[in-house]
Amino acid sequence: MGNYLEIVGGKYIWVSDLMKQLWCEQQMVYEMEEPSLERETPAMKAGTDLHLARELAVQDIVNVEITSPEDAFAVKLINLIGMAEDFATGAACVRREIPVFGAPYGEGLFLSGIVDEIRCDAETFQLDVVEMKTRANSKTLPSTSQMATHRMQVMLYKKLFDDLVRGAVTKATIALHLRLRLDRRLGDDVLHHLGDRRACDTLGSLTDFAFARLQSLPFVARTTLEYCHQADACCFEMVAVDYDDAWLRAAYARCAGFWRGARAARGVDVEEAWKCRTCEFADTCAWRLRRIEEILSERRSACSERAGIPDRSAPDE
Ligand code: SF4
Repeated sequence: MGNYLEIVGGKYIWVSDLMKQLWCEQQMVYEMEEPSLERETPAMKAGTDLHLARELAVQDIVNVEITSPEDAFAVKLINLIGMAEDFATGAACVRREIPVFGAPYGEGLFLSGIVDEIRCDAETFQLDVVEMKTRANSKTLPSTSQMATHRMQVMLYKKLFDDLVRGAVTKATIALHLRLRLDRRLGDDVLHHLGDRRACDTLGSLTDFAFARLQSLPFVARTTLEYCHQADACCFEMVAVDYDDAWLRAAYARCAGFWRGARAARGVDVEEAWKCRTCEFADTCAWRLRRIEEILSERRSACSERAGIPDRSAPDE
């Protein structure tokens, strides 16, 4: 069993890693072990372009010079502060590509993610998380399995966001998992973009400031999946996702066990063996080959029983 947390940098896991894990954990491991392979398909590229176009429609992208890991994290905080202040003052009612992070459910892992979109109702001050998914070939919803990963993703975003709002994420947790120095002075360009908040010149003081702003926001009220067709960039279906904390906790705990090294990677169950048909690792996948061997062995035993022949593969009594 490898330490896969170390393979992805040893500090945190992306929410998108968990989505791959939910689809097929073994496939995710094979991809991690061969990271150099180019896996972006034209459909994936078109999806990325559509996300970028939607982001640029509501906000500018500003380049900030990063001189340390602390600077990189500070940029996430600046984005969160901007969102919280815009929502509070009514300066904006939608923000896209919002960073969220935290260590949910006490599983000992740090998660990082980028929420596609958060909408704020100007009258009710209600926040909605919307995750956009694009479809390349048709205006149809994806398979049940694929949608299960999307549901978990949007629920995790709500969980991470709400934990920030309720003050459940601490400076110490961030410093510990991300190996950051809270007392390190931020770089000049980061301080420049802080404007009149320049007094927050260390990661620790900026984190305090950002958390205070976030804690003035409400929890996420609704979580929605928005499916768009790549051909016309239009939404063809909005799917409301009922947040289920018990389900999410259990699903996340199953994922976390693998990352902590408590168990080996698993491939798909027999009912989902159809996923192997389009998997680039199908010919060599140890999990799949083992399952095929088990099924053949069971069939041989069943045939032998019907013919009254002793099963020679069975261990001697
Ligand atoms: S062949 Fe099947 S079990 Fe193996 S990695 Fe691919 S999808 Fe997963």
